[in-house]
Amino acid sequence: MEFKATYVSWKEIEEWTKGIMKMVIENHYNPDIIIGIARGGLVPARMVADYLFKKDLLSIKTEHWGLTATMNGKAVLREKLNYDVSGKKVLIVDDITDTGESMKLSYNYVKSLNPADVKTTSMLYIDGSNYTPDFYGKGLSKEEWAWFVFPWNVYEDTYNLSKKFMDAPVGVGELKEKLAENYGLNVEDIDLEEVLENIAALKMLKRHEGKFSIP
Ligand code: ADP
Repeated sequence: MEFKATYVSWKEIEEWTKGIMKMVIENHYNPDIIIGIARGGLVPARMVADYLFKKDLLSIKTEHWGLTATMNGKAVLREKLNYDVSGKKVLIVDDITDTGESMKLSYNYVKSLNPADVKTTSMLYIDGSNYTPDFYGKGLSKEEWAWFVFPWNVYEDTYNLSKKFMDAPVGVGELKEKLAENYGLNVEDIDLEEVLENIAALKMLKRHEGKFSIP
């Protein structure tokens, strides 16, 4: 297997974001502002803002990983805040703390803006990361590492993982087998054919009678 990839369900997203909520409440942290790290932390941050009845939801953007499961050098801050957080209590939310580089970068950036306090959270935390978030939904050992295909990244990740099997036209059944063999992907969790059809509608794939290829 090249590396393991796994589709994440909305039910798991709810469990993990509620895990964050519980830890925040148990620790009596009452943030004034929630910051989602784009892009992966946007939906979790929105959900946590709902659970905690918070209206001040902002975002910053970091970039670290390029194409699905390949890292692009150093983590960089692409978009900063356009909001005065000085004297405020901040909660930073991300999807996963993997290398920890994006989280560390985000924490240091927000900290430099003189807030009263900053706490960091992510749905998933991989043990051995360079950074430990204050609160997280689920901890995973290094052995449990996988590329997690979150519900908001299904198109991008499915496309990137499928591409290399699509130089010649491939049927949906055959592609499912390849994805299972190469990444242990549980393809039954999504409607692969619908995803491929929609990607073909964007002209990023070519469709030939039930088969798909790279144009
Ligand atoms: P950090 O570990 O600080 O969150 P990384 O720089 O390792 O940051 O990753 C940045 C972003 O890349 C994550 O927030 C997530 O969106 C994505 N990412 C990283 N590792 C994984 C993974 N194993 N599965 C899915 N997405 C990931």
